[in-house]
Amino acid sequence: MTELSAAEIAANLARLNARIAAAALRAGRRPENVHLVAVSKTHPAAAVLAALAAGQLAFGENRVQEAADKFPALRPAHPALRLHLIGGLQTNTAREAVRIADVIESLDRPRLADALAEAIAREGRSPDLLVQVNVGDEAQKSGIAPAETDAFVTACKARFGAALVGLMCIPPLQGDPAPHFAWLADRAARHGLKVVSMGMSADYETAIAHGATHVRVGTAIFGSRG
Ligand SMILES: *Cc1c(COP(=O)(O)O)cnc(C)c1O
Repeated sequence: MTELSAAEIAANLARLNARIAAAALRAGRRPENVHLVAVSKTHPAAAVLAALAAGQLAFGENRVQEAADKFPALRPAHPALRLHLIGGLQTNTAREAVRIADVIESLDRPRLADALAEAIAREGRSPDLLVQVNVGDEAQKSGIAPAETDAFVTACKARFGAALVGLMCIPPLQGDPAPHFAWLADRAARHGLKVVSMGMSADYETAIAHGATHVRVGTAIFGSRG
């Protein structure tokens, strides 16, 4: 798969940001309250640099090792860069995740909460945390079950305090994502959590209509993944 040029990435970002702003306005929301996380997984550092040059600061990666290979080297020249880890985490990668991430969006089970708490204590560094909810209750998907969400969020709030900032979901591939998005935004509001991370290339406008504060978009910026 050939990588897009810097100019193509910049044009995609401009078009996407315009569509995000329009979707926010259609929903009666302020465009500045919807943030774009550019998902750069599988794309080289050059693609990230092209997006940075176009003004994009928040990036999403789903593998800790790939993120560790790509991002720390970019930070000195780009101190405002924000790295979101959005993929399932093994407990044995918690420490590296805490070391490199600004936001971890995939806190999805008690054992990972234990590992992250220990890593935060050891590293003396505390990324923002989002609880990932398996909104469709799908067997193959990670995320806390909807029925267990309230109890898990309450426990994570007690444990992580203000570092727990929000909820994240990936709705089922089939069917209308809107009810899942509405459910997640409502849960976040009930728990007083500000961040609602939902919506990808195919459904970010729907997510914004239902309260997404962060959309995670890869393909529409960087092109298809090989
Ligand atoms: C890859 C990925 C995205 C981006 O998906 P696109 O369809 O390429 O926009 C968003 N969220 C998560 C958790 C991902 O793994």
